Amino acid sequence: MADRYLHFTGTAPGRFLTRRLGLPQPAPLRRWSPGTPSLDGPLLHLTAGKSAATEELAALLTATGLDVTARAERPAGMVVDATAVDTPRTLADVHAALHPVIRSLAPGGRVVVVGVRPSADDHHQAAAQQALEGFVRSLGKEIGRGATVQLLRVAPDALASAGSTLRFLLSPRSAYVSGQVIELTSAAPDPVADWEVPLAGRTALVTGAARGIGASVASVLARDGARVVCLDVPQAKDELTRTADRLGAAALPLDITADDAAERIAAAVPGGLDVLVHNAGITRDRRLANMPADRWASVVDVNLDSVLRTTDALLEAGTVRRGGRIVATASIAGIAGNNGQTNYAASKAGIIGLVRSLAPRAAADHGVTVNAVAPGFIETKMTAAVPLFIREAGRRMNSLSQGGLPVDVAETTAWFAQPASTAVNGQIVRVCGQSLLGA
Ligand code: NAD
Repeated sequence: MADRYLHFTGTAPGRFLTRRLGLPQPAPLRRWSPGTPSLDGPLLHLTAGKSAATEELAALLTATGLDVTARAERPAGMVVDATAVDTPRTLADVHAALHPVIRSLAPGGRVVVVGVRPSADDHHQAAAQQALEGFVRSLGKEIGRGATVQLLRVAPDALASAGSTLRFLLSPRSAYVSGQVIELTSAAPDPVADWEVPLAGRTALVTGAARGIGASVASVLARDGARVVCLDVPQAKDELTRTADRLGAAALPLDITADDAAERIAAAVPGGLDVLVHNAGITRDRRLANMPADRWASVVDVNLDSVLRTTDALLEAGTVRRGGRIVATASIAGIAGNNGQTNYAASKAGIIGLVRSLAPRAAADHGVTVNAVAPGFIETKMTAAVPLFIREAGRRMNSLSQGGLPVDVAETTAWFAQPASTAVNGQIVRVCGQSLLGA
């Protein structure tokens, strides 16, 4: 399961050899751990042109506790305020802001371009703001050394809702997230008493939590203060109990496709649920011509249908409380498609449809957000089973030249789950190191 190549390129002879042969040079990524600084250096606050948001953004960045400055020799992060960009000519202000300093970004640095939603009424503004997407995705591909680049679109006058997202994007929690476009609504964030344990007093349930990504999600939500219930199939009961015990969580052995799954979940959380993470998933790969109906049906049932059924039932029953968060699991296969995975990719694309359609209604009717993570190549038992050459291609074909870790998906889920993330709704965020697939 370990990435031996990444280890090899971290040694002096490995670096020498791979450079000579023109092979990818993955930079080791820093993950978050308690007590370490979010950024290993100052954060540059840059402005493209003259922006009305400068002061508000400065206040927001300062509130993150980062060392915010207008000038630094070796910045660890850069935030570019591009909210005023509304024509191709003012787009040049983004170039003018970043061009002189981009080389000085520290390894593993963070770049966040802050824009606004492309307008439906002004096609010049829409062209310029959409242009930022191509800019950010290209910069993500060329920046190297483990750095990441994102575009954050805020609704007009809604910068105040961006706090939790800026904290996430400007920290090692987003180590494997790059080239993403995240759009915030204008919903007011719920207050956070303690950013170290933002989920204190909240109850979370994670499906497929015995191992892999689900176990890591459960662990990160527990670290962030949530009471966690770990759900997995009865056949995985021993592994499930071990994982739950390790986290001080409760275990719920249950097949999520069971007819009474929603009632059993509701019974396991009598006080209601604040965070529901649909992570359980299976693959049953075959090309369509060789795929029997049962392989098709089981994948769609576990990955998509059960998510629809339990979400509907738990929302309608009020089990997912106001202020609640639903996080589903898509995949880059659901965006790009994959040979031998018509069933899996269909189920994961279905998750994207579910999220986009339900998110505005769930917010309006229930006060609940609905988002999805779309993992790329994550080092788990699922990907360890992939044949060697396909595995190596999946691992390397992204801007960071390496696979992600379960914790990368877990940190993204935890950001969605935060009380302060009310404005993050209907988003599909890829945790894929800016994979070439689905780009
Ligand atoms: P995994 O196989 O290691 O873990 C999946 C867990 O889900 C297992 O513990 C399994 O027992 C459980 N599960 C399966 N069917 C279930 C059911 N009917 N009811 C309850 N639990 C059930 O997989 P993983 O790599 O940790 O993947 C987790 C999720 O992330 C899946 O939805 C997967 O499709 C998605 N994903 C993973 C990757 C990756 O690279 N690993 C990439 C994209 C998407």
